[in-house]
Amino acid sequence: MSAQQTIHVGGEWRSAASGATREIIDPADATVFALVAEGGTEDTDAAVAAARRAFDEGEWPRTPVAERAALLRRVADLLQRNREALGALESRDAGKTLEEGRVDVDCVADAFRYFADLVMNESGGRVVDAGSDEIHSVVVHEPVGVCALITPWNYPLLQASWKIAPALAAGNTFVVKPSEITPLTTVELIHLLEEAGLPDGVANIVTGAGDPVGARLAEHPDVDLVSFTGGLSSGTKVMRAAADSVKKVALELGGKNPNVVFADACESDEDFDTAVDQALNAAFIHSGQVCSAGSRLIVEESLRERFVGELARRAEKIRLGRGTDDGVECGPLVSPQQLAKTEEYVASALAEGAVLRAGGRRPEGEGYEGYFYRPTVLDQCHREMRVVREEVFGPVLTVETFRTEDEAVALANDTEYGLAGAVWTADPGRARRVAGRLRHGTVWINDFHPYLPQAEWGGFGKSGIGRELGPAGLAEYREAKHIYQNLAPRPVRWFAG
Ligand code: NAD
Repeated sequence: MSAQQTIHVGGEWRSAASGATREIIDPADATVFALVAEGGTEDTDAAVAAARRAFDEGEWPRTPVAERAALLRRVADLLQRNREALGALESRDAGKTLEEGRVDVDCVADAFRYFADLVMNESGGRVVDAGSDEIHSVVVHEPVGVCALITPWNYPLLQASWKIAPALAAGNTFVVKPSEITPLTTVELIHLLEEAGLPDGVANIVTGAGDPVGARLAEHPDVDLVSFTGGLSSGTKVMRAAADSVKKVALELGGKNPNVVFADACESDEDFDTAVDQALNAAFIHSGQVCSAGSRLIVEESLRERFVGELARRAEKIRLGRGTDDGVECGPLVSPQQLAKTEEYVASALAEGAVLRAGGRRPEGEGYEGYFYRPTVLDQCHREMRVVREEVFGPVLTVETFRTEDEAVALANDTEYGLAGAVWTADPGRARRVAGRLRHGTVWINDFHPYLPQAEWGGFGKSGIGRELGPAGLAEYREAKHIYQNLAPRPVRWFAG
């Protein structure tokens, strides 16, 4: 295996200046399957300088919107062309199932197309009535400048694209730093941007660790905006590092997302089956390594026994394995650290009185050499438990119960996060009331997990600052500029002179 040139600066693929490399591990069997450049401060500075030059002197920020949109659409087509290969690479790198990898590629292509359309529709300025025919006043949008884009390991290609597509649509240049654990599909995306004809220096990538690469990007005086997706503790460091240079900061952080189920949502067997099925999906897809995972089941007391019993029965049947194997429903956790963290949370919950209804262990036997953990259901949980308050980011579902609507809302809002949540009920009035009272950036009614590129994604509270997707997702990457033109200038005579 030879060291890969995975750092892209000013249109050139390179190894790290130091020559350092990093092994990329397949989480399904804990073996090394790729080698990438381990970038450092020198590589980061070179990438920022290239992005700065491309912004200040290059053509991209001044390229007509229609051409920028056309490039984004070409990227979407190239992603679809490479769907199988990208889906498989994401599956191997992040441990998700092949089907999830494919769906991620489809969602990414949709995001590129969405921002192409949006920027075309929103390219004109807004004329402001200044109250006089002699004044022409218009608000226009311009790119922010050099963007630092820092992404996590759970949806590597998707999270990078939710930043790259609007950043490019708006005319910015960027340096992306993928997670050091799962950099491979982001490197491939940069190759596709090149193939689509993006000018040199607009898209740069530095593979490497959070510190120094991400930390340097966050503090760098030549970076105008940092958009970060990841955990709360890294996010607060990014915000602090960005403060001295007063750069714009967008943060997409974690969640502790409630899934509220009223008994009236389960009156027929069919509805009961749907709610249980979706609660499983909410908590365990991608082994719970999803920022919006429905990791807190908040179920009406009268329904608890039936609901949790069936949920636990089905959780025990979830088929674990390598994501590319037929019939596999859940892959491994991404790293030994993530596995250890999950085990530690389950142990602390049990010590604090939680009752284990499913999982709570690693699977045994051949084929489980990687970082696998059984989907776990913990009953009799309450907010004093760490597992209820903190993000586990593993296949762990906690169960709490309520008796009244007010109690359900209070429990669902009892988190420092505020990313997403769901309410299940057959009563449309209650559905709207509860949705209105939930302090979360996305609320699903009788569903869990879907998102639309047209709708903003982001969090209340400690789930972050700013929004991705939707019109606000483009606005993050644009500056508004007011141009006020006096068509008949005259002295103002404020000073007698
Ligand atoms: P993480 O915070 O460990 O790492 C995220 C990225 O930040 C990585 O690229 C990492 O190298 C980098 N980083 C680490 N320290 C840094 C520093 N000091 N300065 C700058 N960059 C630094 O997060 P993770 O473990 O990769 O991802 C899981 C987290 O991401 C979870 O908390 C999850 O909820 C969150 N997430 C949020 C969303 C969302 O849309 N809100 C989406 C996906 C994941």
